[in-house]
Amino acid sequence: VSASQPKNNDIALHDVTFGYHEKEVLHGINMTIREGTVNALVGPSGSGKSTIAKLIAGLWDVDGGSISFGGVDIRQMTQQDYNRYIAYVSQDNYLFDTTVMENIRMGNQSATDEEVIEAAQNSGCHDFIMSLDHGYQTIVGGAGGHISGGERQRIAIARAMLKNAPIVILDEATAFTDPENEALIQSSVAKLTKGKTLLVIAHRLSTITNSDRIFVVEDGNIRSSGTHQELLEKDSLYAQMWRSHIAVRDTEEGGAAQ
Ligand code: ADP
Ligand code: MG
Repeated sequence: VSASQPKNNDIALHDVTFGYHEKEVLHGINMTIREGTVNALVGPSGSGKSTIAKLIAGLWDVDGGSISFGGVDIRQMTQQDYNRYIAYVSQDNYLFDTTVMENIRMGNQSATDEEVIEAAQNSGCHDFIMSLDHGYQTIVGGAGGHISGGERQRIAIARAMLKNAPIVILDEATAFTDPENEALIQSSVAKLTKGKTLLVIAHRLSTITNSDRIFVVEDGNIRSSGTHQELLEKDSLYAQMWRSHIAVRDTEEGGAAQ
C-alpha cells in the first residue's frame, strides 16, 4: 500500500488558515468529518462556512495547516484522484454554456443519455426541462435564459447524483425558497445524500437537527460542535439561532395557513 493511499473516507482539517487576499478569513480550523456520517456547518452570514466547504471540495489550497483524506494530505493526491471522491453542490449553482444534457453529464462523462435523464427525474428537473424549447438540447449558461434559480439548483443536484461520489458537500442557496421548489429540493437532496458522507450548509436549522455533528462557525473559527441537543445546552449562539429559526418558521407557517 502506497503512502498516498487513503485508508478510509474520513476528512480532517488541521489548523487550517485561509484568505482570499491578504486578509485571513479562516483562523485555524480543526474538524473531522467521519466516513458515513451527516455533518452540518451553521453560523452567521460571512462567518466562513462556504469557504470551509470550498477548501474541503479542493477548489483552493489552504494557506496554513492541512486537509487530509483517509490520513493522506490531499496535496499528496492528484486533483483528479481526490475529485473522484467528492460531489460538491455550490450555492452558486453555476451552469456552463452548453446544453442541459451536457450540463448534467458533467457529473459523469461516461453516462448515457438515459442515465442523465434518470438523474434529472430523480432531482425533479425532468418536467421543466421537457417544457424548454429544445428540451435536453436547450443551451443554457451564465445568463441561463428562462431557468430560475431553483431550477438551476436542481440541475446542480442532478449533476451531483450522476457523479455518485461517496462524499457530498452541499452548500444550499439561501434564495429560491418558494414552497414548491423547497419540497422538490428536499426530496432530491434526500436521494442524493442517501448512504453518503455528508457535509451540508443548511439555512433552515430544522433540516439539520438530526445531524451526527453540527459545527458552529463564527468569525472564521469553529466555536463549538456537537449534536443539536448538546449545542442547545452548551452554546448560547446556537441556542439563539435556534430560537430565531423557530420564530421565523412559526411566522411563515402561520402566514401559509391563512
Ligand atoms: P458564509 O458562507 O459563512 O456566509 P463565506 O465563507 O462566504 O461565509 O465568507 C467568509 C468571508 O470571506 C467573508 O468575509 C466574505 O466576505 C469573504 N469572501 C468570501 N468569498 C470571497 C471571495 N471570492 N473573495 C474575497 N472575499 C471573499
Ligand atoms: Mg455561504
